[in-house]
Amino acid sequence: MKISDVLSTSKPTLSFEVFPPKTSDRYETVSAAVEKIAALKPSFMSVTYGAGGGTSLYTADIAANIQNSFGVPSLAHLTCVSSDKATIREKLDMLHERHIENIMALRGDLPEGFDRDQPRDYHYASELIYDIKNYDPSVCIGAACYPEGHVENEHKSDDLRYLKEKVDAGVDFLTTQMFFDNNILYNFLFRARDIGIHVPVLAGIMPITNKTQVARARSLSGTYVPTRFLSIVDRFGDDPKAMTQAGIAYATEQIIDLLANGVTHIHVYTMNKPSVAARIMDNLSEILK
Ligand code: FAD
Repeated sequence: MKISDVLSTSKPTLSFEVFPPKTSDRYETVSAAVEKIAALKPSFMSVTYGAGGGTSLYTADIAANIQNSFGVPSLAHLTCVSSDKATIREKLDMLHERHIENIMALRGDLPEGFDRDQPRDYHYASELIYDIKNYDPSVCIGAACYPEGHVENEHKSDDLRYLKEKVDAGVDFLTTQMFFDNNILYNFLFRARDIGIHVPVLAGIMPITNKTQVARARSLSGTYVPTRFLSIVDRFGDDPKAMTQAGIAYATEQIIDLLANGVTHIHVYTMNKPSVAARIMDNLSEILK
């Protein structure tokens, strides 16, 4: 099923992101976790693509298993920046053979040690989106957006202009990077609508279960962490069980506020933790009906 059809209902949607194993010996463990998450029957599930593409077969297989064994629509992520056109074509064939109808088209980041001066086939996600559209116009395409601006682009208005170009290349929906202050999303949605971006925007929510996730989010993407949430991390960050409980409560509150304010599509970064996904779903059971 196409994600665009999932998103076209007036009901709220709750979807989950999982990631593939980095090595083959972790495949069974990761698959078992993913299956527990799929058994919760979210609106759909996305499967990320390991930087550099070395685990792309796992992404494709896990995404296929989610839809075949659980009837949950799946979205396979694909990045382009370190691939050439022929490799991307092979990856698209691989997804097509597995009947994957939904692709999250991303630029990705160049891996460490990659020669940045060497000529490349891809520089931006929009180029990948054009290629997917040429390969099969019926594929439903998602793309990333950054309510606080992408970390490489210090000019927010340029970033938004490029986002509009990306959407115009053939994007069916956008998913945001994680954010911890809903006002940032409301402001971004206003600016996005103002510039003419009208595709559905899924709010990306990360339930924080340990304090290193916060430090990582801040250093990698410059995500703003409100004082209220920093106090929670300061107080409970060294107690894993307490931090998990507080992190899930904070994420739940964020989601309830979003739903109350008309943001109806929520995408949760589960970090492959079935218990986190289950608790979020349970916390929202009446609200999502
Ligand atoms: P783009 O949309 O191409 O933008 C990248 C930068 O280029 C931005 O600064 C933008 O302003 C600028 N830009 C765009 N077009 C132009 C132009 N024409 N001229 C000049 N500048 C331009 N990474 C993975 O490796 N695997 C994953 O599975 C993955 N999943 C993700 C899911 C989500 C929801 C998000 C938010 C991110 C994900 N990422 C993933 C991270 C993503 O690959 C990085 O953030 C990457 O740096 C940017 O990818 P993009 O597709 O947003 O790039």
